[in-house]
Amino acid sequence: MRTIIQGGTIVGAGDTVAADVLVEDEKIAAIGKLSGRRRLDDKVIDARGLLVMPGGIDPHTHLDMPFGGTRSTDDFFTGHKAAAFGGTTTHIDFAIQRKGESLIDGIRTWKAKAEGKAVIDYSFHISVADPTDETIAEIPRLNREGVSSIKVFLAYKNVFQMDDTTFLKILGVAGEVGILTLVHAENGDAVALISEKLLAEGKNDMKYHNVAHSAVIEAEAMSRAVDFVEITGSPLYIVHVASGQGLQAVRRGRLKGLPVMAETCSQYLTLTDKAIETGGFEGAKYICSPPPKTAWDQSIIHECLADGTIQTVATDHCPFWFDGTKKGRFAGKELGRSSWAKVPNGVPGIEDRFTVLWHVGVNSGLIGPERFVALASTNAAKIFGLYPRKGTISVGSDADIVLFDPNKKHKISAGTHHMNVDYNVYEGLEVKGWPVQVFVRGRLLVEDGEWLGEAGFGKFISRTEMGRVL
Ligand SMILES: [Zn+2]
Repeated sequence: MRTIIQGGTIVGAGDTVAADVLVEDEKIAAIGKLSGRRRLDDKVIDARGLLVMPGGIDPHTHLDMPFGGTRSTDDFFTGHKAAAFGGTTTHIDFAIQRKGESLIDGIRTWKAKAEGKAVIDYSFHISVADPTDETIAEIPRLNREGVSSIKVFLAYKNVFQMDDTTFLKILGVAGEVGILTLVHAENGDAVALISEKLLAEGKNDMKYHNVAHSAVIEAEAMSRAVDFVEITGSPLYIVHVASGQGLQAVRRGRLKGLPVMAETCSQYLTLTDKAIETGGFEGAKYICSPPPKTAWDQSIIHECLADGTIQTVATDHCPFWFDGTKKGRFAGKELGRSSWAKVPNGVPGIEDRFTVLWHVGVNSGLIGPERFVALASTNAAKIFGLYPRKGTISVGSDADIVLFDPNKKHKISAGTHHMNVDYNVYEGLEVKGWPVQVFVRGRLLVEDGEWLGEAGFGKFISRTEMGRVL
């Protein structure tokens, strides 16, 4: 089966060229002027006026994730379908170790969740919940399971949070054996102490979530994490950076030449703290940790997308029903009607990341199309050991391709999105630039808003090596 994508403009992280692309089975077989190589039975796609980009890679998602008696609403089918509609063709989800179980058990549990449901390609990081000596001893064996990244938490006291000694140990061991450490950097002790005080004072409105998770809470943990990189010499990837102050710590580390990298999320590109602070319980829709911060913080994030301080834009996609009491649903944000402290933490976004980043980044002139491709796809592939199989339009790479119409407009809405959730944090935002055709390994999954995919097509992508520090 051969397809020729003809007459488009290929945009890569490093250059832009007008060229045709030949897809043969699952791979990109040739790039160039290909009209002379056409066979009678080739499928030819007219890509004139379209950008041909590598499929998006979302390195941070939580599909089918248990959370305080409920779970995130998208599973590996609905989440993948939504991702594909939005131009994302690979994601890395967080498998979670359970207390008393091994890291390997956690990875296998998550592999089973995706089995038979997956539509796009996927891989896993493993989150540490029980940082015992046995757990640490497992780290050198993780890549046998196809996992080369481990996540630790400085947040969520009494659940995931680990102390500095344990963090230093894991960071050290992981670095030695070629496993990349990811960190959720918020000071969990400070969050717990402030939360306790707020709740004792009867401060239950949604807006107090922002007080408990302020910028300095993030920046303190981030600054410490950057120093730990210097102490251990191990590379570190800081997930979901939301504050300008936190980014200053990242900048400090990078200027020193430390192997520290930063991810932000699409919601921080458009939302500020005001989203949670206005509208009473409506604010619960936007509660996530860390929450979006001030307009100033957002301006620093924008700046860091352009200047290279931030390497990737993810989603931290972790949707919960806004109203889980309706028929056929399960508990969601309404669990926190009485207090912000009980609201399940997380926002949907897997479908919107690619287009929102294009809209906020490229249409505004903040970044160019090539930098967009780096942030949306190529850098994640390089950092997490997927490159050059993923993240590039190159001969021999998987044919994960987005045909993108930079002039097509679309108004984002829960009424038309494909995520299994009853609201959208970008509701009403009109974006210019839209994925019109989306391929995963040569297979067309979405064409002009029509779904052509099939459960079970998506593949687990084994990552046995760390990738590289960008
Ligand atoms: Zn997360």
